[in-house]
Amino acid sequence: MSVDIRNVSKSFRSTLAVDDASLALEEGSFVSIVGPSGCGKSTLLRLVAGLIRPSSGTIDVRGVPVKGPLRNIGMVFQSPVLLPWRRTLDNILFVAEMGGLKTSQWRERALELMQLAGLGGFEASYPHELSGGMQQRASICRAMLLKPPLILMDEPFGALDVITRERMGYALQTLWDESRSTVLFVTHSITEAVLLSDTVVVMTPRPGRIRDIVPIDLPRP
Ligand code: ADP
Ligand code: ADP
Repeated sequence: MSVDIRNVSKSFRSTLAVDDASLALEEGSFVSIVGPSGCGKSTLLRLVAGLIRPSSGTIDVRGVPVKGPLRNIGMVFQSPVLLPWRRTLDNILFVAEMGGLKTSQWRERALELMQLAGLGGFEASYPHELSGGMQQRASICRAMLLKPPLILMDEPFGALDVITRERMGYALQTLWDESRSTVLFVTHSITEAVLLSDTVVVMTPRPGRIRDIVPIDLPRP
């Protein structure tokens, strides 16, 4: 879904975390936000998710102002959050269960996503039996299961080593090609941002400002 951020500022007491940010995400786009620690990336993401309110400015999602936490969006955080007592497939199906949906109707899609993410064969494994990278891939599959129109990711590969990050990038792109959700992806890796997204947003700290919005036009591998 489209997201329209207009002149949004957010202060935490004396800290101006985000200063007058404006950014438009087209439906189906993959937009990365890069910048050093403390430049307001997470704050901007949490504002879009409706988890916190802007001090000023407006955020519209599909043309409707965000008033509170958005429903039906996918979120992925820096560390995988899987239920340790559930098998990997059941962890992914958990969002369907939470949404009051019949898990049997989402099973096939969950299996397909696991294949795409390189998790085929690990359906019955428990999270602790998977590597960190695999757990995070499972978290991404879970965020994508219900085909949410918007997926927000906050440093999803932050806790992983470089090689794994690269593999995860390809897995994510494959999954995105399939789902065509709008993705807002926070990373501190400019390489990752350029490789994965169609637009890179560059932020700088003190105060957190959008300095550049760069369209990327790389041919896909
Ligand atoms: P980034 O994700 O780019 O590292 P953040 O959005 O987390 O940056 O933080 C931007 C600035 O806002 C930082 O100076 C941070 O300390 C401050 N900040 C973020 N969240 C809070 C909060 N809940 N309370 C006070 N200050 C905060
Ligand atoms: P990392 O182990 O560094 O987090 P990956 O998540 O990319 O990196 O895992 C690399 C590959 O190693 C996986 O795709 C999988 O085939 C294999 N692997 C990792 N951990 C396990 C495990 N606990 N059991 C079986 N295979 C594993």
